[in-house]
Amino acid sequence: MQDVVVIGAGMAGLLAAAALARDGRTVTLLDRDLLPDVPQPRPGVPQGRQPHLLLHRGLSAVEDLLPGFRDELQAAGAVAVDTGDLAWWGPPGWAPRARQLEVLLASRPLVEHLVRRRVSALPGVRVVAAVRGAGLRRGEEGGPRWWVDTVEAGWADTPDGGPGDADGRHAWPADLVVDASGRASRLPVWLRALGLPAARVEEVDAHVGYATVRVRLPADALGAAGVVLLQQRGRGGGLALPAEGGWWTVTAVGAGALRPPRDLPGLRAYLAGLPDDALARVAAAGAVDGDVASHRQTGNRRHRYDRVRGWPDGLVAVGDALCAFDPVYGQGITVAALEAQALRAADARGDLTAPGGAARLLRECVRLGAVPWRIATGEDRALAGLPGPRSPVSALAGRWIGELTRMAAHGDTVAQAGLSRVYHLVAPPTSLFRPSLLVRGLRARLRGYGPPVPRPALLPVDEADR
Ligand SMILES: Cc1cc2nc3c(=O)[nH]c(=O)nc-3n(C[C@H](O)[C@H](O)[C@H](O)COP(=O)(O)OP(=O)(O)OC[C@H]3O[C@@H](n4cnc5c(N)ncnc54)[C@H](O)[C@@H]3O)c2cc1C
Repeated sequence: MQDVVVIGAGMAGLLAAAALARDGRTVTLLDRDLLPDVPQPRPGVPQGRQPHLLLHRGLSAVEDLLPGFRDELQAAGAVAVDTGDLAWWGPPGWAPRARQLEVLLASRPLVEHLVRRRVSALPGVRVVAAVRGAGLRRGEEGGPRWWVDTVEAGWADTPDGGPGDADGRHAWPADLVVDASGRASRLPVWLRALGLPAARVEEVDAHVGYATVRVRLPADALGAAGVVLLQQRGRGGGLALPAEGGWWTVTAVGAGALRPPRDLPGLRAYLAGLPDDALARVAAAGAVDGDVASHRQTGNRRHRYDRVRGWPDGLVAVGDALCAFDPVYGQGITVAALEAQALRAADARGDLTAPGGAARLLRECVRLGAVPWRIATGEDRALAGLPGPRSPVSALAGRWIGELTRMAAHGDTVAQAGLSRVYHLVAPPTSLFRPSLLVRGLRARLRGYGPPVPRPALLPVDEADR
């Protein structure tokens, strides 16, 4: 395999390139955006102004793909946080504070900028900006397996639709094509043009909306590393997290008809009306920078390319182009990093361009995303009031997870740590059914749950309230 073309230089595309780069091979990353030299939001990643949490498992996977990344991110100002220091509220109450897992909090543009800088310096990698993937053609016998057609930014797809002539077009030869063009992926259309059967698309959309402002506050301004208020059916939620440079993002979320307002006074009122006014007070604690950034494309969507019969060799999809999650669970980049590790392993086995290798990789990627998919779609079905695929086993599991959350809200740090390890994808959901946790649950039922965790003191004014 000599030529790899990756369509999309977002997080999934960059991590895929990191996994596939090696001497003697060209990995070409194509992106429709002009890619900035400094960390800043860009049009091709409209979610870039929203908070982006890299789960613990995701941070480890990126570190594995790009050794030293953790130190670089921290040196660039990312805030190191133990997730047990977050003030975390759910319907049963506040979670207890205790040591859990390390994460680094930083803006999406900074994380992407540092990853792009590292990946661009890898052997054989070239990043080509301002070209849009516009089609896919099979190569001829004896030539490259694929041709990826592109159009320069500002030029239209149709030959007579550009601003003059067809000079903006180019075709890139590839032994392997990786579609990493995110939610905007055109792969379903390209497959149809190749005469392939359509892949089933699975969707669960709770219509979650985000509205975010940046507030100038030092990272240690609060009595907690960050604040999370979980949303529930019919009630909004939100979060406040620090990032590099002395800024916090304060975000309101709401599902369905509960739309977080796009104007600052409306957003402040929305935050004040949440089950706890902690986020409203954080938003008022520092100067607000810029306007409210909103985002509404958040549905869970999975393309079942892994089920398409006769899937062509040398073509895979990763990241949001394969499976996009409701982002409130913070899983997208982590799953993209796990997929990149799978790409690297398949490449090392020589399986990527072998007959059936691309289909095997797609099956592996869907498997890697299966637990996050179940978490996100299960929660979103409840949020949207949609009937779930409820077997008696999953109903029982749901009740037990509710019980663990209740135990945690009454101070059980072991239950809280177990939930957190599953959420951060470092332990399988089955770990929540280990005998020691079941015994704790039984004991709580028999002897009582203990006092609820008190509301954390977040700001000096909270201390005065006490
Ligand atoms: C509001 C919001 C908040 C989020 N928060 C989190 C979070 O906390 N944690 C987390 O892990 N994930 C989060 N995510 C998800 C995360 O953004 C994605 O899962 C992650 O970036 C992986 O995406 P990707 O690389 O597949 O797509 P993207 O990051 O969207 O990148 C796609 C790239 O492809 C390019 N592109 C698109 N079409 C073409 C084309 N035809 N030709 C060339 N280039 C093209 C785009 O310019 C872009 O650079 C959030 C998402 C949203 C919407």
